Amino acid sequence: MSAEIIDGKKVAEDVLEECRQEVKELKEGGVVPGLAVVLVGEDPASQVYVNSKVKKCGELGIYSEKIVLSKEASQEEVLDVVERLNGDSKIHGILVQSPPPPQIDEEAIVRAIDPRKDVDGFHPENVAKLALEDGSGFVPCTPAGCLRLLQASGVETKGKEAVVVGRSMIVGKPMALLLVGRGVDATVTVAHSRTSDLAEVCRRADVLVAAVGIPELIKRDFVKEGAAVIDVGINRVDDPSAKRGYRLCGDVAYDEVSEVAGSITPVPGGVGPMTIAMLMKNTIKAARQIG
Ligand code: NAD
Repeated sequence: MSAEIIDGKKVAEDVLEECRQEVKELKEGGVVPGLAVVLVGEDPASQVYVNSKVKKCGELGIYSEKIVLSKEASQEEVLDVVERLNGDSKIHGILVQSPPPPQIDEEAIVRAIDPRKDVDGFHPENVAKLALEDGSGFVPCTPAGCLRLLQASGVETKGKEAVVVGRSMIVGKPMALLLVGRGVDATVTVAHSRTSDLAEVCRRADVLVAAVGIPELIKRDFVKEGAAVIDVGINRVDDPSAKRGYRLCGDVAYDEVSEVAGSITPVPGGVGPMTIAMLMKNTIKAARQIG
């Protein structure tokens, strides 16, 4: 058996097409959605992420601001920027790129963002709204993208066993809440670094989501035949034959798992493109709600 490949680029393009339409409608009503992206320091991966978010805004007609602070910036300086953006009527979405330098208390920064502009969905008010299934909140972009991939691929979740590997606030926990939510209706297990016999737990899954950060942790014998496998991991592994000296791989051993899974996301080209598409969706939602 060879798994069907879940094409994240294609599904993301569909989401972005919806976004284009929604931006057009909002603009007709006199609202231009605006996103501010704050980068503290010079982390190269963060620079790439920030630039791609700003570029995507441009492609969709969303106004964007990129605010870059030095790597020595103080907590007060970052808080001042957030405070200014909270009060800026051109800006509907604010995100501070993670990870900030060590002198910055990231949690305090997230709490300072107006929850109505917290398009990353990390503010405690939005975490609570997700748990409460209050649709006015913002769902973190990566798990929201994973759910959309499952839905777009016609994967049945109702009454099925879902296993999420990883319990971070960015991916694992919100993913579990989405899967157990009304309308999705999976029976959810969350596995993590202290789970005993991970393979046995994973084998229960009709839907398996891996968000760990360990290259190819999930092997063929972890996967039930026919399961849908969503690989969130983005890991750099050394590869002297690659131009850049490394290649990207997921948390799932793609080649061997493809032989047993019913469907699977590749890395790259699976969850990655969905994250940015869902960020655009959240920004548009914020613009709609704030006006
Ligand atoms: P994290 O480090 O915050 O969390 C990792 C989780 O994995 C933890 O909850 C931990 O308990 C669990 N874990 C660690 N070792 C384990 C083991 N041996 N067995 C079972 N569980 C174990 O990471 P994160 O922010 O949730 O990200 C996870 C991965 O997803 C990373 O590779 C990250 O780069 C990637 N990621 C991708 C996107 C995307 O857009 N595709 C977005 C966010 C994160």
